[in-house]
Parts: sequence; structure tokens; C-alpha cells
Amino acid sequence: MTDLNLTYTLERQAELIANYNSILSQIQTTIQTNQISRPIQLLPVSKLKPASDIQALYDFGLREFGENYTQELIGKAGVLPKDIIWHFIGGLQSSKPKDLNSGSIENLIVETIDSLKKVKKLDENRNSAEDKKTGVYVQINTSEEDQKYGLALDNLEEIESIITFILKESKNLELHGLMTIGSFLNSHAEGEENEDFTKLVNLKKQLDAKFGVDLKLSMGMSSDFKQAIKQGSSEIRVGTDIFGSRPPRA
Ligand SMILES: *Cc1c(COP(=O)(O)O)cnc(C)c1O
Repeated sequence: MTDLNLTYTLERQAELIANYNSILSQIQTTIQTNQISRPIQLLPVSKLKPASDIQALYDFGLREFGENYTQELIGKAGVLPKDIIWHFIGGLQSSKPKDLNSGSIENLIVETIDSLKKVKKLDENRNSAEDKKTGVYVQINTSEEDQKYGLALDNLEEIESIITFILKESKNLELHGLMTIGSFLNSHAEGEENEDFTKLVNLKKQLDAKFGVDLKLSMGMSSDFKQAIKQGSSEIRVGTDIFGSRPPRA
């Protein structure tokens, strides 16, 4: 179980802030060099890290964090301030959308919806005190790796039916955009473009036109966020470069 103690040392806070600011300045440089005008959100990914690390960055002013495991997220959301916006970015097993609606999580964005069944479950029984809408990203398995969650690109029918459901039928959901992880290989290749990111951008264009929306793109992590920004990302999810390397999952 992740440590839920909220007390941090000033040294640790200073280290986290320095790491965070270093990524921010790298984002700034990338934006300027490539003349990008859209805003880029930097999402700190705190999975497997103690709640005190989150509290330290919260006290510095940050309000959004990414987590991968339902029970860990519920535990952290239970002890940390209620105005944190939690991004669930982990693989979503079929039984879990319900758990995420457990009430301890006031502000929630689920980035890993990959089936119509799961998005419907997420919409049911939303139980936040103020009935806030849950944000949704549809996860696409652009690299077509078996071990990755996400919808295959050629499953356009289901992708579109999820979007239609969120836009037209859901009571408690709000459409945010598309998310992908991308293959390790492509994120470390020397080439000009990461083809996984290119695929997500092309899908976005297609869906924007069809549904009259402007989908956000959650793509890019510690190893490939600059490339992701160049190619059109609106949110990068950074864990290791802010919090340091992670312990193995117990
Ligand atoms: C862990 C994780 C991240 C952060 O990865 P780092 O390489 O540590 O920056 C981003 N996105 C997802 C989906 C993750 O599981």
C-alpha cells in the first residue's frame, strides 16, 4: 500500500518543484522553437509515490495529478485535498469504472476509456457530492501492442459510438479528447516523427470534422514529451522526470 502520510520535508518539496519547473522550461523552449501557440498542460504522474509528494506539489499550487491504480487513487483521494482533479491513466478493467465512482473522488478525469461498455458503466452511479461531470479521454492503442489497453484504430465504429454516447446520451460525462501511450520503440527512435502520435493526430482530425468538436490530445511522457508537443499534444503526462524512478509495484 502506498504511503498516505502527508508530511514532507522541505528538501523533498524543493526537489519536486525544481524538477517540475525544469519540465515547464523545456515545454516553453519547445513551444517557442516550434512556434506553437496552443496551451500545453503538464500532468504530474504520481503513481506509486507517497501522498506526501502530492501534498508538497499541492502546497506549491498544483491541482491536477495522474494515477494508475484504482485502489491507490481512492486511498490518496481520501486523505488529500478535495479540490484535486485526479486523472485516471491506468488500464481500466471492466469492473473498475464503478469503483472510480466511489465518492471519495470529487473531481475525476478518466483517460483510459476503451469500450462502450466501460464508458456506460462510468456514467452510471456517479456519486460525487456536487455531481460534477467526469471528463473522458478515449484511449487508442496506436502501436497495436497486445499488452496495451486502448481501442484499435481500425475499430472506428466503437470509437465513434463511445463519442456519440458521451455527447448525446450520458448524464455525467464530458468529452475531453483522445489519449495514447505509444510504443517504447517509437518513443526512442531517432526519426522525425513518432508514428504513433501521427496516427492519433490523424484520428483527431477525422473525429473533429465528423462531430464538430476540438478533441484534446493526451500524449507524451518523460521520454517523448517534446516530440509529442511538436506533433500536437495538449497534455503531457510526466512521472519519472518529476518524482524520480518508481519502486516496483508491491
Ligand atoms: C506511468 C505513466 C506515465 C508516466 O511515465 P514516465 O515515463 O514515468 O513519465 C504516463 N502515462 C501513463 C499512461 C503511465 O502509465
